[in-house]
Amino acid sequence: MGLKETAFETLKIGCILPGGWLKNQLRIQADGLSGHLEEHWPDVGPENGWRGGQGESWERGPYYLDGLVPLAYLLKDEGLIKKANCCMEWVLASQQENGLFGPKRIKTVNNDVDKKQDWWHFMIILKVLMQYEEATGDKRVIPFLNKFLLYLNSTIEEQPLRGWAAARGAEMLLCIQWLYKRNSESYLLDLANTVLKQTINWTDIFYDFPFWRKVETFDWRTHVVNVAMGIKTPGVIYEFTGDEREREAVHKGIDGLMIYHGQVHGMFSGDEWLAGSHPSQGVELCAIVEYMYSMEQLTRIFGEGKFGDILEKVSFNALPAAISPDWTSHQYDQQVNQILCNRAKRSWSSNGPEANMFGLEPQFGCCTANMHQGWPKLCSHLWMSDKEGGLVAVSYAPCTISTQVGTGTKAILKVSGEYPFREDVIMNLSMKDSELFTILFRIPAWCDTPVIAINGESMEFEITDGFAKIERKWYSGDSIQLHLPMKPLLKPRNMYAVGIERGPIVYVLPIKENWQQVAKRDKFHDWEIYPASPWKYGILSDTKFEVSTLKVPYQPFEAVNAPVRIKVKGKFIREWMMENNSAGSPPMFPCTEGQKTTDLELVPYGSARLRIGEFPLIDKRINNR
Ligand SMILES: [Zn+2]
Repeated sequence: MGLKETAFETLKIGCILPGGWLKNQLRIQADGLSGHLEEHWPDVGPENGWRGGQGESWERGPYYLDGLVPLAYLLKDEGLIKKANCCMEWVLASQQENGLFGPKRIKTVNNDVDKKQDWWHFMIILKVLMQYEEATGDKRVIPFLNKFLLYLNSTIEEQPLRGWAAARGAEMLLCIQWLYKRNSESYLLDLANTVLKQTINWTDIFYDFPFWRKVETFDWRTHVVNVAMGIKTPGVIYEFTGDEREREAVHKGIDGLMIYHGQVHGMFSGDEWLAGSHPSQGVELCAIVEYMYSMEQLTRIFGEGKFGDILEKVSFNALPAAISPDWTSHQYDQQVNQILCNRAKRSWSSNGPEANMFGLEPQFGCCTANMHQGWPKLCSHLWMSDKEGGLVAVSYAPCTISTQVGTGTKAILKVSGEYPFREDVIMNLSMKDSELFTILFRIPAWCDTPVIAINGESMEFEITDGFAKIERKWYSGDSIQLHLPMKPLLKPRNMYAVGIERGPIVYVLPIKENWQQVAKRDKFHDWEIYPASPWKYGILSDTKFEVSTLKVPYQPFEAVNAPVRIKVKGKFIREWMMENNSAGSPPMFPCTEGQKTTDLELVPYGSARLRIGEFPLIDKRINNR
């Protein structure tokens, strides 16, 4: 086993800094839960075991740092950097002679984990340490990781991966690869082999996907977060073996997941276990941020635009939808057709009555700790290197990239334009000298008529694996204009329902929200949301779309300030019932007799916390799937 060439390589943390609305998202999360959680939630506060305390010592501290560390450095926020560094100092100082580190007294909140050595929480802190090293260049990190992995190598046969760790071994493999690229220590390849053997065989599962229905019993292989993390496992193995079966397994796995469990926002459902494609089943926030990270890694490894398409859809829809606009509360499970968020029984595969409430730790506190990685990691993966001095555009959110291009010239590329709320992306290049290099632009599959112009001149290009390649001598001051026309479309869903998509954004009917506080704390409260406007609408199959754009506000993911709206024609459907405190199945043959045609104004999915996202289709059927 050795390391094979991947298509792309990531840029170090800090090479890509957020701009525009993306920077605002990071600021909003820093001003909310991400920047203040440790002051208000003992699980990641000073009592946390990963900070030397006697409290929670399992995954929550590392989860929180996995978002806090990149957030602090991407915002260059001195206060957050101090918070993050303080935790990192404790971690770095905790290493014992034998290489093990971290809390000595493991008190877990999770009773599933046995009392033997558990490697799962280490996998998260390793990801944190990698990011910390990239952001700071701290010379202690590489020897520290090496010492720990030597220890792991000497003990892993007697203390193998179990439970969560066995499902999530790819996270460990990513660290082993990262370190091997820096120190070429051959034991790392043996260790990788052992970790791989002890990890659930995701390749076989995804290659011939066996889970076709809603799952209602405990199974490591259908736990939604495990699946969202597991999907990258064949890719990570491919980096060691180059076996094309791994690539096929990823594609077949995504297809299987979307056919049997897919929902309109680009995620598959899982309200603990994979839960089928019904628009009232939930998906857990942890699964969303982990699937995003999986797509980022799969883009790096395989260099296919398809993973960028999925990454954008999930990031721009499912991620913001699960978090309140001010980032002071979040959901565990979100529903596509979400008409009521309250403490009540629902048709989850196994979650409890609080799972769709907004709060500090509804249902279970894993997402409270883990949600912070979503936006910062998206920012760090917006652009990559093609490993030959060229750049790769994975997604077009506003940012500034500072890196070396061509034969080593320092370049700064500023991306502006407020994509995905607009169709145009502007990229301005500044460099000391002119340089010959390639830029690969991801062309989303939804875009039929992309235009790339350089200094106003339209370029010819072909699209390979979802990327347009422009190789030329670039000059300082060059301006690239990318035009990605976004056409509104009715997308067929199960049960003859339809979703509405325009570019990477899904559009939904917002239901007026009545937020009721049900638990009051100093800063982060719990809420139920009751509907204050009707939701039982279907869409006419021959509807026209009227798109209007407004200014992109500080928080675009809020229905009242939505920067893009689409007007469609619909009708009220009296017979559409509630089932188990959720919207029932969209009626397949809705009766709308006597109802007049109504204008419905749709907004981006991620901006509406109550919404209809999969609508009954009125009149003619659409058959193209
Ligand atoms: Zn979670």
